[in-house]
Amino acid sequence: MSESRSPVFDNSFARLSGPFYSEQAPSSVPNPGLIRINTALAEQLNINSDWLASAEGIASMAGNHVPAGAQSLAAVYAGHQFGGWNPQLGDGRAVLLGELIGKDGIRYDWQLKGSGRTPYSRGGDGKSPLGPVIREYILCEAMAALGVPTTRALGAVTTGEMVFREQGLPGAVFSRVAQSHIRVGTMQFFAARRDNEALQTLSDYLIKRHFPEAADADNPILAMFKEILSRQACLLAQWQSIGFIHGVMNTDNMLLCGETIDYGPCAFMETYDPSTVFSSIDHQGRYAYGNQPSIAHWNLMQLAQALLPILDNSPTATEDSAVAIAQEAINSFPERYLNAYQNIIKDKLGLSQFKEADDALFQALLSNMEAQKADFTLCFRRLAELANESACINTSIRELFDFNEAFTPWLQQWRQRLIEDQQSPAHRQAQMFKANPVFIPRNHLVQEAISAAQSEGDFSYFNQLVDILAEPSQFDPSKLRYAMPAKPEQRVTQTFCGT
Ligand code: AMP
Ligand code: MG
Repeated sequence: MSESRSPVFDNSFARLSGPFYSEQAPSSVPNPGLIRINTALAEQLNINSDWLASAEGIASMAGNHVPAGAQSLAAVYAGHQFGGWNPQLGDGRAVLLGELIGKDGIRYDWQLKGSGRTPYSRGGDGKSPLGPVIREYILCEAMAALGVPTTRALGAVTTGEMVFREQGLPGAVFSRVAQSHIRVGTMQFFAARRDNEALQTLSDYLIKRHFPEAADADNPILAMFKEILSRQACLLAQWQSIGFIHGVMNTDNMLLCGETIDYGPCAFMETYDPSTVFSSIDHQGRYAYGNQPSIAHWNLMQLAQALLPILDNSPTATEDSAVAIAQEAINSFPERYLNAYQNIIKDKLGLSQFKEADDALFQALLSNMEAQKADFTLCFRRLAELANESACINTSIRELFDFNEAFTPWLQQWRQRLIEDQQSPAHRQAQMFKANPVFIPRNHLVQEAISAAQSEGDFSYFNQLVDILAEPSQFDPSKLRYAMPAKPEQRVTQTFCGT
């Protein structure tokens, strides 16, 4: 018997009876070629990585073969896009192949993205060019390495066919893994149709799959909603703490399981400026860096709205009582966010405890950074170096960024604060290195990897970048190039979604 056996699927979403999806086989492609597989993730999902790298595994990632036990389907959803309501969306260029139980006991979706038309494709071709596949692979794996809840890259393949956008581009299919793909927009779809039965079925499913502790609460749907609020609050705090700009925070791009999804026009901020926007289609700056937490709050209000018909389970429930419950829960979001954010700020500043005055200390640093046009990532990393100067033998980070005299009063205040906060410099620095990474997926590096792959079929830049970003806090001077901000001529100011 060969070691290379196909994975064992268990498709709970496909077993749901109700109007949640359409059965949909992926389209075949002319000539699948392997770009990369994520061996560690495959093994974690109980997928034999030899099988995944075999002709059958590659054909499965390309959509040319549906592995035994998979039940491919396209899910339906709706959503608010840039604030405007769109009642009919869905997996227009993706199919869910099936679910796998990981070594951690958690159930995961394996989805193919760019696998052809579905009933929800509207005018689109259901395909993906290579560029967005490369971008998503790099970004989501970098986020995972940074400890941010995210969908993951299981692998990526080229298709051997051209995809037509403004020009002909090589096509690719991305294998995406998520704890599930159920979105705020999924709930909105059924709420808009007043299909309370579907809302209830989906909520029961979500509680079972993601929020089992909510099942024991007096009001399980409310308990689930509060847990969704908490997860999003933590997620947004993490995004803000590393300068991640999602770029397209539509309600259909917010997963109820709490993972980051949709790496279309996203990018990491370099120079600190809260108004930073990268998305080429975000003309009003709705999804600017500084707006992200309040946009998350807004999206969750839409979720509360969608859940209203099933939110009050008491015998005396009325529309007003449900609204009151929703309002109270949604009002807790800013505080949940603040708590999560302050917990990370403390790590970024190297403090064992967050005190009230630390907020002002942190804001003062941000103001300095903004005034000095400092690189967000390098500034915090340099601060981490200062936490234990005796241990710092290499000066490389300092060559890339150093605090100028405008920061001197702030640094004095910070050092003063450290005196009150008793912990060893080595311990403090370790804490700060973790919270203040040195390698982030800088846009010009992502662009370089895309260009080489797209124009020459050269994946070496992509592979190298993925490998470096897998250890975001581990600096060594030979990797200096990957820590550097873009030079003016390298700066990418706009990113595009894959459509
Ligand atoms: P996104 O901007 O990626 O969140 O996608 C928004 C909607 O457009 C989703 O319903 C997608 O499935 C759909 N979509 C995006 N690109 C394509 C495409 N190339 N073909 C068909 N549908 C697409
Ligand atoms: Mg999307």
